[in-house]
Amino acid sequence: MSTRSSTGTSTSTTSWVAGATGSAHDVDNLPYAAATWPGSATPRLVTRIGDHAVDLAAAGAGTRWADLLAAPGLDPLLAAGPEAWAGVRGWLTDLLTDEQAARDVVLLPVDDLVLHLPFTVGDFVDFYASEHHATNVGRIFRPDGDALLPNWRHLPVGYHGRSGSVVVSGTPVRRPCGQRKAPDEPLPSYGPSARLDIEAELGFVVGRGVPLGERVPTSGFADHVFGVVGVNDWSARDVQAWEYVPLGPHLGKSFATTVAGWVTPLAALEPARVPLPGQDPAVLPYLTESADWGLDVEIEVELAGEVVSRPPYRLMYWSPAQMLAHLTVNGASLRPGDLFASGTVSGPERDQRGSLLELSWGGREPFTAGGRERTFLEDGDEVVLRYSAPGAFGRIALGEVRGTILPALP
Ligand code: CA
Repeated sequence: MSTRSSTGTSTSTTSWVAGATGSAHDVDNLPYAAATWPGSATPRLVTRIGDHAVDLAAAGAGTRWADLLAAPGLDPLLAAGPEAWAGVRGWLTDLLTDEQAARDVVLLPVDDLVLHLPFTVGDFVDFYASEHHATNVGRIFRPDGDALLPNWRHLPVGYHGRSGSVVVSGTPVRRPCGQRKAPDEPLPSYGPSARLDIEAELGFVVGRGVPLGERVPTSGFADHVFGVVGVNDWSARDVQAWEYVPLGPHLGKSFATTVAGWVTPLAALEPARVPLPGQDPAVLPYLTESADWGLDVEIEVELAGEVVSRPPYRLMYWSPAQMLAHLTVNGASLRPGDLFASGTVSGPERDQRGSLLELSWGGREPFTAGGRERTFLEDGDEVVLRYSAPGAFGRIALGEVRGTILPALP
């Protein structure tokens, strides 16, 4: 294969790891996770190549990044900044394409890994950046008003979520209880949510922070964002609909947010960068993009063993660079481990909707999954979000986001 240019000194792009070349986990991917495996006591940082993982504490001993890679998660590497991110990625690429290194690197079967939350989640902010999703929700919740509120095309609308309930893929999600009131009921009641939902999103993991009082321009996106994770922003629609006026989502969202165990470095998504579909009216100068940060990431939503939707991230109205610029334009600080998510990804077609609220049009138009008519989540349902994107040598897979619904506490 051709000579590699920017990521390292290796002259080969072919990995010596059997099965990696041409797979969705080739050397153009190299995501990071915090994992334990049989015989390991505490989480260690790993990368994935083919169907194997590399223990980075062991492989990185003696390198200039040894301290960063010996940590139980990504926190020190996030804080180290973009020079270190590129350095580690270049070193890893060389290691996994250099035949001479093969005898020194221990490969772990990826199926033996238990993944843990890969970084300490700081602040969590969730945006609402899909025009199709926001329009659908507006039509469902406000059938007599404008689908989009007046601010929507002028700023990326968002809210602060709860970082303490961000959990890693595979963690069961207990059906929340809360206060809800249907429009035709005179008074609210308390009990298990009857309209439990998913939101298929993409999340952005902040690496290098900025002090209070400073801003990140759209051109600073790649200096401050380390990578991406799939996100399922579980939502109790009945709780949400009653509580959200006038200050926004609260307990209807804060019971659980699931993120992928694998963090895909932004560098792996370089071939997935695309222009935004178009913004009209023109945005204010601080939101003007200096480079394309639309991302051609495709998502699959699986419910009860059946793919029910394929939301296209490339159609998102606001870019993550604009989200970050907006997030900091008031001088709010950024810290390594801060997480911001895109909001539900929905496309114009019915089978591109990223929530069951939209797929069932507020519960009024059931859809089929697992051979049955469905609206909202049932106890025992398993939801899997899968993500893929163009990589340098073919399509790459991002980490999946998996969760099963447990019954509400009595
Ligand atoms: Ca959301």
